[in-house]
Formats: sequence, C-alpha cells, structure tokens
Amino acid sequence: MSGFIPYGHQQILAEDVEAVVRVLRSDFLTQGPVVPAFESAIASHCGVAHAVAVNSATSALHIACLALGVGPGDRVWTSPITFVASANCALYCGATVDFVDVAPDTGNLCVAQLEQRLVQAQRAGQLPKVVIPVHLCGRSCDMKAIRALSQRFGFSIIEDASHAIGAHYDDQPVGNCRYSDITVFSFHPVKIITTAEGGVAVTADPAIAERMARLRSHGITRDPAMMTGEPDGPWYYQQVELGFNYRMTEMQAALGLSQMDRLETFIAARHRISRRYDELLAGLPLERPPNDVSGSRSALHLYPVRLNRDQDRRRVFETLRSGQIGVNVHYIPVYLQPFYAKQGFEPGYCPSAEAYYRRTISLPMFPGLSDDDQTRVIDILKGAVT
Ligand SMILES: *Cc1c(COP(=O)(O)O)cnc(C)c1O
Repeated sequence: MSGFIPYGHQQILAEDVEAVVRVLRSDFLTQGPVVPAFESAIASHCGVAHAVAVNSATSALHIACLALGVGPGDRVWTSPITFVASANCALYCGATVDFVDVAPDTGNLCVAQLEQRLVQAQRAGQLPKVVIPVHLCGRSCDMKAIRALSQRFGFSIIEDASHAIGAHYDDQPVGNCRYSDITVFSFHPVKIITTAEGGVAVTADPAIAERMARLRSHGITRDPAMMTGEPDGPWYYQQVELGFNYRMTEMQAALGLSQMDRLETFIAARHRISRRYDELLAGLPLERPPNDVSGSRSALHLYPVRLNRDQDRRRVFETLRSGQIGVNVHYIPVYLQPFYAKQGFEPGYCPSAEAYYRRTISLPMFPGLSDDDQTRVIDILKGAVT
C-alpha cells in the first residue's frame, strides 16, 4: 500500500471473493447453510459448544446481556478504555453501567480495583449482575482472577473479545468460556478477521445459546417444547419474547468462513510486525506494549505506544497524520463522552484510564503492512519524538 497507511485494514484475497460470490449465486442469501457452518468453525476454533453469529459485536453484547437476565434495576460494570459498545449494551437493557479503572501498563480491567469496588458494592447492596472485561488490543484480561471474584460476589461475565479472536489465555483459545459465561468477537474490517459488519457470541451453556439465538430473530421459536399450548400445524411458530433482527447474512458468513482459514496466518503476521516495531522502536522515549505473559498470546489487534509524559501527544499525532500515517487513539475513556457525562460521570473518575488515554497512540498494525511502510511509520515517529 502506498500513500496513506491506515491503522488497521482487512486482507481480502481471491478465495474470499469467490466464497462470497458462490453464496450470491446460491439459493440462500440469508438463513441458509453458511451461517451455521461459520458458527461451527468459530465454536471449533474456540473449543466451545455453541456460537451464535449476528450482524455486529454490538448486537452480540446486547443479546448476551439479555440472555444473562440484565434488565432495569441491574448494574453492569466494564472498563473505561474500550469502544462505547461495551457499555451501551447495558443501557439497551435498561440497566445502569459503571466503570472500573484499568491497569496502567496493559489498559485492561485492573483486578485489584475490581475487587476493591466489589467489596464496597457488597456493603452498599449494589453488586453488579454482569462484569464485561475487555481484552484490549487482543491481550486477554486475567480471567482466572476475574472468575474467582465472580464466584465470590455472584456476578456473570461477558468477555468483550472484539479484539481477540486467535488470542490465547492459559494456553487455550480465548472464547472457550472456561472463565466466563459468554465471549463476544467482532468482525468489523479493522478487527482480526472480517465479515464486513458482524459478530458472534459463544457460550458453553446450551440454554444461554438458545436464548441468544431466539433474541437474534424476533424472539420467535419453532420448538413445540417452548410454546404455550400445542402448535396449530407444521407452519406454526410463536413469538415468546421481544427479540430483534440481528441476523448475519450468508454472504457475511461465507466471508468469515473463508477468513477463518487464515486466522493463524493473520496472527503470525501481526506478531512479526509487532516484533519489528519492538526492535526498531527500542531506545525511543516511549513505552512499547508489554510482552505476552506465559500461557498467553495476544491477537495484536492494535500496537499502541505510550509517549513519555514530557512529549506533546497532539503534536506527535499531527506529525504522523501529516506524514500520511493513519494513527489513531484507543480509547477515549467512555465515561468522558458527553452522553455518559450526562449520566453523572466526571473527569478524574478513573485516573489510570485517563493517564493511559492521554499518552497513547496506536500505530498501523495489520497483516498487509509492508516492511517499507512500517519503516516509514517508524522514521516519522522517530523524527516526531526525538
Ligand atoms: C469493535 C468493537 C466493538 C463493536 O464491534 P462491532 O462489530 O463494530 O459492533 C465492541 N467492543 C470493542 C472493544 C470493539 O473494539
């Protein structure tokens, strides 16, 4: 790629195009065989029993909350260093949302903070129903510790693994749900694999999977066991609750299935790019992302560098942008958004999140980033910080 270098970009090969075109020429554009095939591929990759594919990770987070019984009067907690969707899902259900500060080095939910807040919440009788840890940049949170807290304080866990398909935790694929109730992945084009728009919720629990599948399609069931009374006939279905049209199309699933064949290649390419950044940025006045801890493998969705405190982040950012480098910032703490400020959150609420935000810049990171383009990124960054 010449000219502008984005921070993330999909890789589409001829085989992806052919897979989508095959579906376009087939009988089913939606509700055919390819979505279930894609779901099986995801479930088998994760080593989990059930996968429910939907039209976005945002939708997946929504039906995940509903399937765990989140409703008015309930509390959901998440990380402030995330995309707004991780928090909005609680509000869609009529619940309230709160934010737990992050660890300063990884930007992931801080387990010590979480524990402290849970102890306080228990005293006040205000424990959360669900906690949503976010695997920032594709690095898993400390799920064993969060699981232990969930058992002690009685909340459910949804992993927002939008960045993290292909990541490992505890030497196992993220998404196996050993330490959570549900895990959600996003397939937006900047993420690890893409379906254009799309997402999936995986779970080991058959009842949760069934509920999410029903909510994905209007709350309708064709299972006589779920119906009130006897079916009127073979055509019969019943709407048993209020659901949505969150279905994924067959074209999206075909693209996703084709992309899943290259998941390992994508992760390997991201690790190669990350190692090259690590080498070539050594010695600059900035912090590189922390390395993987034993048993874990980041999916490396993002490569954020954190500038030293005396650097002017805005000037460095603008220098990179004028050099046609599509750097970005992940993320503005969610509660600083005007919409959340209106709910009573004030600056200073999560000091580590705000410190993380003030210094961070995401460098280009995607499998198709060439060595030459990466060198250009590094050269401009060097010029800007030294
Ligand atoms: C991208 C993203 C989402 C939303 O994903 P969509 O598929 O675009 O709805 C949610 N959470 C995080 C952390 C994300 O990065």
